[in-house]
Amino acid sequence: MLISEKKRKNLQRIRFLSRKVLLEAIAEEITSCGRCKLWKTRKNAVPGEGSSESKILFIGEAPGYWEDIKGKPFVGAAGKFLDTLLSEASLSRENVFVGNILKCRPPKNREPSPDEIKTCTPYLNRQIQVIKPKIIVTLGNHSTAYISSKVALLFNSITRVHGKFHETSILGLNVTVFPTFHPAAALYHPKYKEQLITDFHALRDRLVEKELL
Ligand code: URA
Repeated sequence: MLISEKKRKNLQRIRFLSRKVLLEAIAEEITSCGRCKLWKTRKNAVPGEGSSESKILFIGEAPGYWEDIKGKPFVGAAGKFLDTLLSEASLSRENVFVGNILKCRPPKNREPSPDEIKTCTPYLNRQIQVIKPKIIVTLGNHSTAYISSKVALLFNSITRVHGKFHETSILGLNVTVFPTFHPAAALYHPKYKEQLITDFHALRDRLVEKELL
């Protein structure tokens, strides 16, 4: 059945509003979450941020010092470098969604524990189901390991799997998974900086190919 342009635009508006409202509802739950002990030491939970209409989802590890203070993802030094990488892929924060495996900072930025990952990732799963991204970019070991486990992808180390596109399906959605290094890795090891930039150029090319840019 053909629908008028006005109806189509209205439907689009409703879809946009409902995604935004659903993401806000998940964020509200996260900010008052007490499912694991990290709520005791957090200043702010960090639900994630960006466009509810984004076709590209970036997944980091967990909030650090500045993220915990501001309640926003990737606002410290690694975040600055992420902004540079996004612009290398002709992207910006406004047209992507950036989230994390854990929504609260582990004390002293320690690694997320398996229990914390298990307890927290249902939020990420729900965010994925609402956003329905076409491409998921995993930043670093933890997010790559988690997403790989959901799509039966073999994961050994980020140095082996980074920079490759995997056409797969997650939570019933067809997606391309693209693992790369965590931006923080580049701050300590210059060789990862080059590799990250190369990966983000490959990402840009794939986005152009898929007409997502
Ligand atoms: N590192 C992450 O993995 N996530 C953030 O939000 C900030 C730093």
